[in-house]
Amino acid sequence: MPFITATAATRESYDVIVVGSGAGGGQTAYTLTMDGARVLMLEAGRHYDPVSETPMFQTPDLAPLRGSGTKDKPFGYYDATVDGGWQVPGEPYVQTSTDDSGRFEWWRARMLGGRTNHWGRISLRNGPYDFKPHSRDGLGFDWPIGYDDLAPYYDKVEMLIGVYGANDGLENTPNSPDGCLLPPPRPKVSDLLIAEGSRKLGIPTIAGHRAVLTQQLDWKNSPAKLHPGNPAAQKIIADDMQRRAACFFATPCGRGCSTRANYQSTTVHLPPALATGKLDIVTDAMVYEVTIGKDGRASGVGFIDRTTRQQRHATARAVVLAASACESVRILLNSKSARFPHGLANSSGKVGKYIMDTVGSDVEGQVPRLESLPPHNEDGVSGMHLYTPWWLYKDAAKLGFARGYHVEFGGGRRMPGMDTVAGLEWLTGGSYGKQFKQDARRYYGSFVGFSGRGEMIPNEHSYCEIDPGVKDKWGIPVLRFHWRWSEHETRQAAHMQKTFGAVIEAMGGRVQGRIETDGAKAIAPGGSIIHEVGGAIMGADSKTSVTDRWCQTWDVKNLFLTDGAPFASNADKNPTLTIMANAWRVADRILERMRQKEL
Ligand SMILES: Cc1cc2nc3c(=O)[nH]c(=O)nc-3n(C[C@H](O)[C@H](O)[C@H](O)COP(=O)(O)OP(=O)(O)OC[C@H]3O[C@@H](n4cnc5c(N)ncnc54)[C@H](O)[C@@H]3O)c2cc1C
Ligand code: SF4
Repeated sequence: MPFITATAATRESYDVIVVGSGAGGGQTAYTLTMDGARVLMLEAGRHYDPVSETPMFQTPDLAPLRGSGTKDKPFGYYDATVDGGWQVPGEPYVQTSTDDSGRFEWWRARMLGGRTNHWGRISLRNGPYDFKPHSRDGLGFDWPIGYDDLAPYYDKVEMLIGVYGANDGLENTPNSPDGCLLPPPRPKVSDLLIAEGSRKLGIPTIAGHRAVLTQQLDWKNSPAKLHPGNPAAQKIIADDMQRRAACFFATPCGRGCSTRANYQSTTVHLPPALATGKLDIVTDAMVYEVTIGKDGRASGVGFIDRTTRQQRHATARAVVLAASACESVRILLNSKSARFPHGLANSSGKVGKYIMDTVGSDVEGQVPRLESLPPHNEDGVSGMHLYTPWWLYKDAAKLGFARGYHVEFGGGRRMPGMDTVAGLEWLTGGSYGKQFKQDARRYYGSFVGFSGRGEMIPNEHSYCEIDPGVKDKWGIPVLRFHWRWSEHETRQAAHMQKTFGAVIEAMGGRVQGRIETDGAKAIAPGGSIIHEVGGAIMGADSKTSVTDRWCQTWDVKNLFLTDGAPFASNADKNPTLTIMANAWRVADRILERMRQKEL
């Protein structure tokens, strides 16, 4: 108890099987078990214990290559990800193009908690416009739900996981009710300069929103709001909240947080869910299909026990896929039967269609006013303190592209790594020896970086399907990706470049390299921002979507999706807070239907 073996999992029939333990799976299992449902979680990756495994305090000199990124560890040696990245050994995928403009890079994690162990923790609410984009400009699809459907769940998730931020009342950038947000950290000096430069251009900068505890959670008041009428759940979460420490502003969140001061599924969702006694978890359990009973309903899932390579089958009254958007699609497409020859829940032919990422483009600059500062600590919360939400809603007709982007920016001094003073030649003219040391001290911490994160409109050319030939090392057919940006996205990337160059100049700084005016060159390849959503979109019509508004598949009534796969659009806001809010909403619906004996 409660991490069990694959064999043990086959002995009991559960209320719900949840596939995947990341943001979607973690939230689903939390909500279901807190309300008494018996849940089996199947996770393809290995067990991971953040307390004993997180390299929070190690310094670069203790790591190979001083901790620099490699092919196996793209985000550096100490990155929390184990067994994951752009490539997972033995688990390939097929790209139909290697060209930057037609390539989709698929980032996966194979560990308990999935990508939430190292994600950026940027947690922005979608606004009302983001659920009805088609109604606003005729492109893409509307969601069958609106902001008001999700707002109470955004409130709950913010209270539960702990998100800092402020209410700025800007257009399509929702405020949170009192008691939801934690106070934001103070801006760093580089943030203040960026804010000043942005202000000159009429660009707003406001407090960032990230899932980091800047103070202890409100364990006295929040539990009753999270679980009204459920004293057992309230007690579990009140106790658990007191065991989470506040951030001490010193270590990189990407390595994970053993003191539980930021959100990762392994430190926030799974411990209270396990404390209910209702959750069993099997790690190293690679699900390859959803099985169907004679009644046409999901009977359970088939999975491979990676420790023995044996095939297993677990059963439940309902199945929830939260294996990450494209993995859930893969499971659906591989679940073929006489009744569902084209894959499960695919009567619309839309499974795998409309995969989306975020539009990304970066610019860096150097700011003389940040040179030669006295030594000082400004590690902060290891992520954005301020950011710029999209500010040009009123200018939509003039821009030449639809939708918009937000700006994640930052700068300042961090613990030096291999590349801290690399590539200074454009400033120093190529100095050596003593002069180089002086230059390194002068320029250290004087750089600022801007990353645009924009909305991609779903299109017919961006989709995945099962490759007819290639299988992974478990014998499971793999995905083949097709990708294309439209001019809305490439023009947006060019706009990002121009804007960031202008802000750097307004700060009195200089752009590193040059501003790319060709958006097709400025845009990061598909998938590289790692905000993969879509592939099983929700909708109001079973002919054009895979699930209904409850993320219940139209074709199989006890099959649900709670990762990013049902997203009908991908707003500029990073997707994970919305994945969690939606997962809570869907789990509530499953509980209600179980109470009514409809599941
Ligand atoms: C470097 C980086 C930075 C990011 N920064 C942000 C950010 O700041 N803000 C933001 O909103 N998002 C961010 N993201 C994206 C964020 O991590 C994802 O949106 C989020 O984790 C998605 O949750 P999920 O549950 O769908 O998938 P995951 O968190 O990936 O979890 C899926 C789980 O399912 C398991 N699984 C997969 N296939 C199977 C199978 N066949 N059987 C059983 N289990 C399976 C996986 O092993 C994994 O553990 C970032 C991601 C990365 C990598
Ligand atoms: S910065 Fe704060 S939240 Fe992030 S890892 Fe360090 S202590 Fe944890």
